Amino acid sequence: MVKKSLCGLDADEMCDLIRASGFTAAHALLISNSIYKKSISDISDIAKIPYRLKEELSNIAVSGINLPLSSEVSADKSVKYLFRTETGKEFETVYIPDNKRNTVCVSTQSGCRMGCSFCVTARYGFRGNLSAGEIVNQIVAIPEADKVTHIVFMGMGEPMDNLENVLKACRIITAEWGLAISSRNVTVSTVGIMPGIKQFLERSACNLTLSLYSPYSEERKKSIPAENQYPVQEIINMMKNFPVKKKRRLSLAYVMIKDLNDTDYHLEGLKSILKGSQIRVNLLPFHPDWKDQNFSSSKERMQFFKHNLIVSGISSSIRKSRGADISAACGLLAIR
Ligand code: SF4
Repeated sequence: MVKKSLCGLDADEMCDLIRASGFTAAHALLISNSIYKKSISDISDIAKIPYRLKEELSNIAVSGINLPLSSEVSADKSVKYLFRTETGKEFETVYIPDNKRNTVCVSTQSGCRMGCSFCVTARYGFRGNLSAGEIVNQIVAIPEADKVTHIVFMGMGEPMDNLENVLKACRIITAEWGLAISSRNVTVSTVGIMPGIKQFLERSACNLTLSLYSPYSEERKKSIPAENQYPVQEIINMMKNFPVKKKRRLSLAYVMIKDLNDTDYHLEGLKSILKGSQIRVNLLPFHPDWKDQNFSSSKERMQFFKHNLIVSGISSSIRKSRGADISAACGLLAIR
């Protein structure tokens, strides 16, 4: 019999499992807290539940907390972890400490099938979707689990291509019975899969960020094949018109590459597609990998973009580059 993984169960599923053994919802809550808030990986170590429940549970379930295989520490203290599923799919997670803000960048798939030309993950190919439990495990199984304040879904994979597992992981991360991290501190990133974005906006309260690359469709198509099916202007129009609740953030991630997408022409394009919207633009430095011929835009150029966007009424910020020496830039985890 294949044992159920407790990490990845939502409140109803946990209750059903515990009640089937003749125990109560209160016991289910104790178990959820032990898995999601205390990272207890051995069922026999769960405190305050009867011995008989531990025994019965051990026969049908495992905690589902699986430690990373290896890790690499960056000069700026970011840590990249390598995980492997039971079926041998590998994926990466990055922990990024920054004063009181400690972020985990999680993967949603092993590899990716979106084929973006600038992305190292795309070269790895697609190995499979991660379950909600495998996504949540990337937070609860790392040594820094109790320090995590923010989650970004910007690791390997396209979240909208694994939507149900991503939505369930978001529910577990934000629920009181789960990790209890505010939805304001959880951001899901996409290259623009329209039907998935629509559902995500309707069914989750978490933040959304769209990876833009270029404001021009013809240029974007060359690097992001999804643009052929879902033109960016239509996605931005949908984001503009979606009634966003207070404190939920919809943003664009714009990785700036020297001479490729940081010209005045691109700045004008950005201003034009975002005119009249509340969407924020996060400008990010580009992390070239060892095969790249391209380089990041200069700090001065990034400042110029930021200033011009703000003057045009578009909220904008420059994000720090983290973990460059371990190829751990959020959104583009390098496979070495
Ligand atoms: S950029 Fe994102 S969506 Fe595109 S191939 Fe890489 S992981 Fe997939």
